[in-house]
Amino acid sequence: MAGSSFFNPLTTMSTATPQKFEFQAEIKQLLDIVIHSLYTEKEIFVRELVSNASDALEKFRHLQLTEKEVFDDKLALEINLTTDDKAKTITIQDHGLGMTRAELIENLGTIAHSGSKAFLKALSESGQKNANLIGQFGVGFYSAFTVAKSVKVYSHSWRANEPGHVWTSDGTGSYEVEEVAELSRGTKIVVELKDDCADYAQDWKIKEILERYSAFVSFPINLNAKHINTVQALWLRSKNEIKEEEYTEFYKFQAHAYDEPRLRLHFSADAPLSINALLFVPKENPERLGLARLEPSVSLYCRKVMIDAKPKDLLPEWLRFLKGVVDSEDLPLNISRETMQDKALIEKLNKVITKRFLKFLDEESTSRVDGYNEFYAQFGIFLKEGAALDFTHKDQIVKLLRYESSLTEKGKTTSLTDYVSRMQSEQKEIYYIIGANRESIESGPYLEGFKARNLEVLFCYESVDEYVMNNVREFDGKKITAADHADVKLADLPKPPEGSLSDDEIKSLAEWLKKTLGDRVAEVKASDRLVDSPALALNADKFMTPHMRRMMKAMNKDGAESPLRINLEINPRHAVIKHLAAAQTASPEKAALVAEQILDNALISAGLLDDATKMVARIYKLLETV
Ligand code: ADP
Ligand code: MG
Repeated sequence: MAGSSFFNPLTTMSTATPQKFEFQAEIKQLLDIVIHSLYTEKEIFVRELVSNASDALEKFRHLQLTEKEVFDDKLALEINLTTDDKAKTITIQDHGLGMTRAELIENLGTIAHSGSKAFLKALSESGQKNANLIGQFGVGFYSAFTVAKSVKVYSHSWRANEPGHVWTSDGTGSYEVEEVAELSRGTKIVVELKDDCADYAQDWKIKEILERYSAFVSFPINLNAKHINTVQALWLRSKNEIKEEEYTEFYKFQAHAYDEPRLRLHFSADAPLSINALLFVPKENPERLGLARLEPSVSLYCRKVMIDAKPKDLLPEWLRFLKGVVDSEDLPLNISRETMQDKALIEKLNKVITKRFLKFLDEESTSRVDGYNEFYAQFGIFLKEGAALDFTHKDQIVKLLRYESSLTEKGKTTSLTDYVSRMQSEQKEIYYIIGANRESIESGPYLEGFKARNLEVLFCYESVDEYVMNNVREFDGKKITAADHADVKLADLPKPPEGSLSDDEIKSLAEWLKKTLGDRVAEVKASDRLVDSPALALNADKFMTPHMRRMMKAMNKDGAESPLRINLEINPRHAVIKHLAAAQTASPEKAALVAEQILDNALISAGLLDDATKMVARIYKLLETV
């Protein structure tokens, strides 16, 4: 306990006249840095003085458990702030454990206490006067000098036999300590503001700062006799004591939300870091409604005091839809978010929380399927982003994705895990197909071959899906492959006994088609995957997929105009193809028109026909021959 067992000859040498002391050289250096590097974030001093008051109350409460005799034992354990805009002062008072004369000198005039010491050590180790370092350490008390002409600290220790004192300084080089009669227990800090900082003597200004940084301090905070912090730091209470309404109220307060949370995860961990976290998924996804991109908004706290409302790296980008609080005792009380330097610590927090949240979603997806699906409908897009871009968590995220498939009913989805469990013994790959909706995929030519072989195909309806699948690449050791890609090899189907063109007829038709269609196709061959359609266009370009081409076109990107690389596959069992084989010699002119039209039809199914005017003219020509 700070100072309680401290013994110094000075304690007995009390004197009624003011005594002047020089700050230790290190403290002078510290003050200099604090005052000069924090000028943009002066308001921090309120948080620092309030958290010191809260610490002092906490220590006192602890001390009461063991000490029988304490000075002024009836005082309320609360923090009182008063502002006086005429006198340009702000006063912070607590009835905590207080300080003796020796403790005032030790704690406020020397480098002995933890925050400052660590700060200066890091400063010397960094080998330069790196003002950024200040952000890493709680050198709180001295932050008062960023706004103060003078600071007076009135304090009376909990020890009844110690008189009260006032410590006074203007923060330049020295301070004075003088005995004062009739103080009650605890500490009262009077900050006399510099003229250009007189704003901090305004009630509304301090209220705003307290609501931002100190809303969850455990002791009541009163500002000009009005209670400020009415919501509790729920995340530190035990789950089974908290009512549903309390969670909702907390969520609304903390996230400035008007809806009710959709999902909630409240957890704590001790290793590798001490963490208490309370995370919420809101009801709706505002990005989905076309509103602006969300900013990360899970706030970072250290023992109920806010460090950063919107820390950037606390969670991966794709979790930016989460709201709530993460509190870690392992964090140094950080002065500034711009200067959040402790990357390694934040990274560790990030890992632990992300892993825990993914585990939570996994549990939800099996134990509350409907709720999970509703969540997925709103927020699945973020999971897709994570699956594509967050390499560290990819495997866990991919498990959470859901798609309709050729084996699900309309509107029902499957996970990739379940897909794999249904795979046939010879099936090596996971197939997917991109399309606007179920109907367009089912009526297109691409599914036929898979259906005929009982191979399941995932249906992807969102424009990001292709990107996601390309980035994810494999799942559970199985390659993920587009069903409309030319490389897909399907096992032979038993040939229908009759009605197919012979191998020679196919060969000659394919050669004729290639000649007739020229550069419009890369290759023509008999298809192993067509059942009911005459032909289909397969994408022979791995990177410029049909979908990619459409997207680039929509975005007016170069590359959309690069030549198509298309393989045309024909169905030797289909009447149109059989007629074509016959017409090829009987009426070659008409056959050429039909060939072009078959290719255009295949391109339409693939979403690749850019300009239909030629086709319209051709159809009229064909109609003339009827
Ligand atoms: P830290 O809080 O990190 O220790 P500070 O600079 O904020 O550093 O405070 C320095 C020390 O002064 C504290 O550790 C505490 O011992 C003492 N102190 C500051 N404010 C109070 C207070 N209101 N009541 C009792 N002791 C205090
Ligand atoms: Mg402090």
